[in-house]
Amino acid sequence: MLDVIKRLLILQKRDQKIIQVKAELDNLGPQRQLLRAKTARAQSDLEAARSKFQQLETERKNAELEVDGKKQFIAKYSLQQFQTKKNEEYRALAHEIELCQNAISKLEDRQLELMEQQDVVQKEVAQTARTAAGMKKEVETQLAHLDERETELQKMLGDLNTGREQLAEVVENSTRTRYERLLKHKGEKVIVGIDHGVCGGCHMTLPPQVLVTCQGDQEIMSCPNCGRILYYSPEMDLAPNSQ
Ligand SMILES: [Zn+2]
Repeated sequence: MLDVIKRLLILQKRDQKIIQVKAELDNLGPQRQLLRAKTARAQSDLEAARSKFQQLETERKNAELEVDGKKQFIAKYSLQQFQTKKNEEYRALAHEIELCQNAISKLEDRQLELMEQQDVVQKEVAQTARTAAGMKKEVETQLAHLDERETELQKMLGDLNTGREQLAEVVENSTRTRYERLLKHKGEKVIVGIDHGVCGGCHMTLPPQVLVTCQGDQEIMSCPNCGRILYYSPEMDLAPNSQ
């Protein structure tokens, strides 16, 4: 194998690690967002349960006030009954009192219903509160792990970048420029082997002349299709796959 290819392979290995670490770093933001969305969702479930409880509470208090109002009417009508001398008026007031009493009875039934519903919702509130608290704790732990990982990755990236220049410097200039350009456009797989007569990058069948030149180990060959730099090592099988 050509020396320059050996050097390029070492450089490529380093660049692949750098790309991996950068990708993991880039992924930290979305991961954090996902975790925060989980907490927000649990919190909004809790708020919904609380507001359902509050609505029932308001309705129950309104029914209570309505009962008080009806009771005041009954007191007023009773007083009027006591004061009147007319039978017809007395009966009319008795009828009004009865209507109020019926209404009170219905309102009291409704209050009981509401209290039962509140019991159920109260349990729901407690459950969602536990879930939200658990979720918050879990997310905080995971976020702390991500922070630790970020510090680790930043350090790794620093270490990988340190020394990358030395690895690149030992590659002769024009080849290095070619490599850097390919790295920019093709990503992390730039120096590729020959696998059963095809390019290890784009998988197109290589012309026999290219295979022979590669095997000759005298000059750097590129894949005529994708432009990646090809290399050959003795363990590679140059023969095409038999169908
Ligand atoms: Zn190719």
